[in-house]
Amino acid sequence: MTHVHDAVIIGAGFGGMGAAIQLRRMGYDDLLILEREDDLGGTWHVNRYPGLAVDIPSSTYSYSFEPNPHWSRLFAPGPELKAYATRVADKYDLRRQMRFGIAVTRARWDEGASCWEVTLEDGAQERGRYLLTATGFLSQPRMPDIPGVDDFAGEVVHTTRWDDGVELEGKRIGIIGTGATAVQLIPELAKVAAHLTVYQRTPIYVSPKLDGRVPGPVRTAFAKVPLTQKAARLAGTSILEVMMVAGVLHYRNLPWANAIGKAACERHLKRQVKDPELRAKLTPDYDFGCKRPTFSNDYYPTFTKPHVDLETTTIDHIDERGIVTADGRRADLDVLVLATGFNLWDENFPAIQVIGRMGRDLGRWWRDNRFCAYEGITVPRFPNFLSLNSPYSYSGLSYFTTIETQMAHMERLFTAMRKEGAEVFEVREEANNAFLDRMTDLLGNSVFNAGSCATARSYYFNQHGEAVLLRPTSTISAHREAARFPLDDYVFETAKEPVAAG
Ligand code: NAP
Repeated sequence: MTHVHDAVIIGAGFGGMGAAIQLRRMGYDDLLILEREDDLGGTWHVNRYPGLAVDIPSSTYSYSFEPNPHWSRLFAPGPELKAYATRVADKYDLRRQMRFGIAVTRARWDEGASCWEVTLEDGAQERGRYLLTATGFLSQPRMPDIPGVDDFAGEVVHTTRWDDGVELEGKRIGIIGTGATAVQLIPELAKVAAHLTVYQRTPIYVSPKLDGRVPGPVRTAFAKVPLTQKAARLAGTSILEVMMVAGVLHYRNLPWANAIGKAACERHLKRQVKDPELRAKLTPDYDFGCKRPTFSNDYYPTFTKPHVDLETTTIDHIDERGIVTADGRRADLDVLVLATGFNLWDENFPAIQVIGRMGRDLGRWWRDNRFCAYEGITVPRFPNFLSLNSPYSYSGLSYFTTIETQMAHMERLFTAMRKEGAEVFEVREEANNAFLDRMTDLLGNSVFNAGSCATARSYYFNQHGEAVLLRPTSTISAHREAARFPLDDYVFETAKEPVAAG
């Protein structure tokens, strides 16, 4: 019989590492962290495209208990995030429990042994008393469903599989997509391309980026007087929180807050692009916040350069030479960049097949009913399962607020369970339903339901048109609930088979 670990964690990004740190704090030392990629860091290991940087202030994009005084810029470049992840993993000695290049296909609750049986791609199995999935929201690259995309004879590169070996200097480059990734990449491509054509289907809101190098004395102050960095973090978090709560979640009652965000982006565009025709093409026709807005100072000006074209005519097909639009025009290309984002709803909810009690299949159950996880983390009939990237789990704009809210939930849950001498928890179906009703009511006030989002094509919405990704409450309220949720929302039981030591 396979050894039963205290917990199996799928994913070695910031979410999986935060969960591992929390489990260790609670005395669970026998952890197995399985990672599909060849190193830790999740998004920050996978994404390596030129221009990659965090898209919210770095002081808020880190664990509050592991501040990093060394960020070089207000919006740190990608490699610094990867280095930070490595440092945290080393400090908490997590790497020895990680196994890389391991894809998990399936997990099944074994009722007889009260543990999870996890099946790997090669057919091998691992077992854990607890199962945590930390597979990220944005981890399955989306290939565009454009006819002929495989016929292109030049180089094709998706932003999540960046290949530094692809020659860009002096080339004719085409890029499909204008999401947050493309906003960072397009100015970098324009610096080296002989010609750049940007294929935009839906424009994005872009606001000014208050970026810059963090001066040496500030970094020294952050290192020597941690309170100063805490203050910077509080300021950053508060601004993001106001943007999110007032501008997006309370849209029905505070439409002016949303209008301020929209006006800031429109003013930015007007200042940077004088040509009214180009400006019109870059102006979104949906409400601010329907899809994630982003920050950039060099995105809009890139389109005013003579060697950069913004193409808004629908792509008809791709052939071996380049891209042909619906009006019959073609652009011959040497390199095709796919900044086409991620497939969330078809392949990532959940990222693997998860079978709970009485044969409940999580993916099928969510699709046949409605997407929901109690407090964005647990699901009825899935005992001892923490789904960290769940419907209604994402709270605020920094992923770290979500991670730390979930760590607080784990602490309360495991402490209560152990007080009762139990090893198995399961959330009650009624608690899950009540949570879903409450989230549905709150969403009614948000821009997602009360605003005009039909043309946004936002990945926040699932195939039923419901915006169930983000938790429609403030991060303060999410954190408070994580520390105070009613304990009788859970049922606790003793395990049928104890975990063998060693
Ligand atoms: P995205 O926001 O989903 O954008 C994908 C883009 O590709 C969209 O413009 C989409 O157009 C276009 N597209 C997809 N399929 C297409 C097709 N068949 N034909 C034409 N256009 C197509 O993905 P992303 O830009 O990778 O960003 C995803 C998220 O990652 C962001 O919202 C952000 O949260 C995160 N991100 C973070 C950072 C950071 O912190 N550094 C950086 C980048 C991204 P439509 O809009 O019309 O579908």
